[in-house]
Amino acid sequence: MFLDLKNRKALVVGGGEEALRKVRLLLKTQALIEVVATELHPELTDMSVWGSIYWLGHGFHEDQLDGAALVFVASDDETNERVSAAARARSIPVNVVDEPELSTAITPAIVDRDPLVIAIGSEGAAPILAQGVRARVESMLPPQLGAYVKRAESLRERVAEHVPFGNRRRAFWTKFFFGPLKDIFISGNGDFNAELDKLIADEAHPAQGRVSLVGAGPGDPELMTLKAQRRLQEADVIVYDRLVGPGILEYARRDATRIAVGKTPHQPSPKQADINTILIREAKAGKLVVRLKGGDPYVFGRGGEEQAVLEAEGIAVDVVPGITAALGCAASIGLTVTHRGQNRSFTLLTGAGEDGVVEHDWAALARPGNAFAIYMGVGNAGHIAARLIEAGIDTAVPVTVVENGTLANERSFVTSIARLGEAMLENNVAGPAIIYIGLAKAAVSADVLSFPGRANELQRAAS
Ligand code: SAH
Repeated sequence: MFLDLKNRKALVVGGGEEALRKVRLLLKTQALIEVVATELHPELTDMSVWGSIYWLGHGFHEDQLDGAALVFVASDDETNERVSAAARARSIPVNVVDEPELSTAITPAIVDRDPLVIAIGSEGAAPILAQGVRARVESMLPPQLGAYVKRAESLRERVAEHVPFGNRRRAFWTKFFFGPLKDIFISGNGDFNAELDKLIADEAHPAQGRVSLVGAGPGDPELMTLKAQRRLQEADVIVYDRLVGPGILEYARRDATRIAVGKTPHQPSPKQADINTILIREAKAGKLVVRLKGGDPYVFGRGGEEQAVLEAEGIAVDVVPGITAALGCAASIGLTVTHRGQNRSFTLLTGAGEDGVVEHDWAALARPGNAFAIYMGVGNAGHIAARLIEAGIDTAVPVTVVENGTLANERSFVTSIARLGEAMLENNVAGPAIIYIGLAKAAVSADVLSFPGRANELQRAAS
């Protein structure tokens, strides 16, 4: 419900906790608040002493409605009905607390970043859902946003004077609300006024864009950071990888241009140089570019390479970390990656080299007590296992594989290093997978693992 209550009368009938809540809402407006009640909540008494509300005393009568723009009622049943009928007869919006049949105005769940207010209503059909949506919206909007909106209000004249009306001004406000300036204001890190001056000056001649390298996490959109979501909401252009699922892109600004640059193993796909060209082209056209990657941009994601290329072109780059697959998949199946008395380190390895097969210091990896996660290792799993066995690893070392981790089609199984190659085939692992060597959810004995099939059984039992 959005009403202009400036210098208009709002009547509250009732003096208890609920009435107090409505008065608090009204105090955010410039309404003239009048309260009818036999007894006032102590906080309301203070307000009336300070003159922020006017206490009419007890006993509702109709002419108290004269000139009212809005009525809240939180009284006894009989009064509720009487006030509601009287207000309706005069066509004044009335809200009776917890009595939708007596109300013509419904107060929604709100997210309050005054002067920005978001109202969420379900017409009484699903108040719990509305509350849930409210909580989500609440978490999307930093508490300082209200102060920022006020700041915008105070800048209107200055911007109108310096930034020409039309596209330029629109671009200014878009950058003001969705660009890095807001982050500076909200975090308090950086010289806000200097950056603001720069932004105003920049709109005289089109500015350069920038690129955000954003980690989308392992797949489940709920594992994205708030910052990643915000970047997706700001983006003009989103350049995304194959591993970024459609659920993630739901969070993107609707009118952002989306460019898929996924590399699929063993298939013709865009070369890194082509991706770099796209990023440079879009940023130089003044766009806010989000380079969206699965997991974390710096973990086997070529984030560093892209960053170096962009910075060499003088393009500003920022990085938003994401939950990397090895951690996301582990959490999803309840696997701890370090465990007291079991392993003191946990290594992330790639299972694919530049030209296919990868080489590592197998002897070091094969030592007892090591635990590591292999990315991009599905095709080379047998080869990796053979190398580790050659290097003397205990063949009973447990191995856990998680495919499509955190997604609806997640699968996992436990096997041993000796059986890894076969187990990958038996289980038809085709999606992206993390192979954990030296880690299994339950302490699994060598006996169990040396029987083909038993590992699957174990997995089934565990789930
Ligand atoms: N930057 C990404 C890794 C990209 S390399 C990150 O930090 O997670 C691609 C590899 O990541 C895949 O081959 C696979 O090993 C792993 N991976 C990515 N998403 C995955 C998922 N949902 N489940 C299992 N493994 C995944």
